[in-house]
Amino acid sequence: MNQSWRQRSACQGLDPDVFFPLTEEDARQAKAICATCPVREACLEYALANREQDGVWGGATAKERRRILRQRRKTA
Ligand code: SF4
Repeated sequence: MNQSWRQRSACQGLDPDVFFPLTEEDARQAKAICATCPVREACLEYALANREQDGVWGGATAKERRRILRQRRKTA
């Protein structure tokens, strides 16, 4: 999968720990950064396609991504 979007990510060079919070609540800081990211959609789709189990991707936590996948399965 083309990953050129990574080069334009808002999280480039930031502490990766921010994007791997221990709880859903701790994800706030990562989500705030994702909200400003120009490649948020591509990042989220990448995580969904690869069934990423951990971390915040595209502004969504693992729990939120599971919800998105469930929703999509329902509407597919
Ligand atoms: S959406 Fe968030 S995790 Fe994805 S590249 Fe942008 S800042 Fe990084």
